[in-house]
Amino acid sequence: MNTLDLAVIPGDGIGQEVVPEGLKVLRAALEGTGRDLVTTNYNLGASRWHETGETLTDADLASLKCHDALLLGAVGDPSVPSGVLERGLLLKLRFAFEHYVNLRPTTLFPHVDSPLANPGAVDFVVVREGTEGAYVGAGGALREGGVHEVATEVSINTAHGVERVVRYAFDLARKRRKKLTLVHKHNVLVHAGRLWKRIVEEIAPEYSDVEVDYSHIDAMMIYLVQDPSRFDVIVTDNLFGDIITDLAGAISGGIGLAASGNLNPSGEFPSMFEPVHGSAPDIAGKGIANPAATILSVALLLESIGEDDAARRVREAVTEDLANNPDSARSCAEIGDVIAKAVREKG
Ligand code: ATP
Ligand code: MG
Repeated sequence: MNTLDLAVIPGDGIGQEVVPEGLKVLRAALEGTGRDLVTTNYNLGASRWHETGETLTDADLASLKCHDALLLGAVGDPSVPSGVLERGLLLKLRFAFEHYVNLRPTTLFPHVDSPLANPGAVDFVVVREGTEGAYVGAGGALREGGVHEVATEVSINTAHGVERVVRYAFDLARKRRKKLTLVHKHNVLVHAGRLWKRIVEEIAPEYSDVEVDYSHIDAMMIYLVQDPSRFDVIVTDNLFGDIITDLAGAISGGIGLAASGNLNPSGEFPSMFEPVHGSAPDIAGKGIANPAATILSVALLLESIGEDDAARRVREAVTEDLANNPDSARSCAEIGDVIAKAVREKG
């Protein structure tokens, strides 16, 4: 494959500002790799919903499926009722393309401040299950609106769904510092917790070189603040993973640096790369969003297609830019320009 055929979904708010910077850097990184970049823009998000009432149609899905990968900015806007774009677009995409690994690396780059007094070395990856758990939309409400209303939100966990993400996490741990931490709450959420624990225990002997650890989600909040250096690969369900990664973002220099990949490791569907942050309506249109999270998501994209050297150059350029420009107020486009130039110089 010497073309990268990329579907681009800038989406809403600052998504429109950070995605062009991500593409700038991607183009620079691919120069000299012998791989061409072909992009197709998709107008999905709030404006499309206002115009047509559509979030993501079957035709959109069929078209998106034909690309090698997807780059997404952010979706969500205060003018759209809560949940419409999250469920109808983002989760629909993740479920349809079986993005069962939501990969969220957390690194505290040198010269970046952490709010922790003694953060130590922060360098771990959260492997969050992406297609099951409390996010599936199972449940409902009875007697809605009154004092007798009953609402349920059922967390679905299948042996197949848990096993495939746990195996991915073990493989990843083996390539890193060989430590895997399962996070759940099996003393209270006994049914799902038992399934996760059993599957980790069953697979562990195949990875005898990987040390396996367990933490309840509540205790995890303490450990992440007191000593995040103890973690290497963390595997957990959809909801706990969402919570952990927001805290992880906060201790490692903020949401402007947090990258993610929604992976379909089997390759049956294209994977999707996006910054962890949302559309940030409070700063949208001002040109001051930090594009680093999107640029680091581009590094994950490059790794997913086997361009490890290009990914390394992108990460180095971001690291150097952070070191060279502590607290400088620069525009989104300026940061993108500097990083793209540095990536080219390393090529
Ligand atoms: P969503 O529901 O879409 O995840 P959210 O309500 O969680 O959105 P974000 O859009 O992620 O929130 O924004 C949270 C805060 O972080 C806002 O104050 C926003 O301005 C800030 N923020 C988010 N992304 C960036 C960025 N790339 N650069 C600078 N500030 C950012
Ligand atoms: Mg959010």
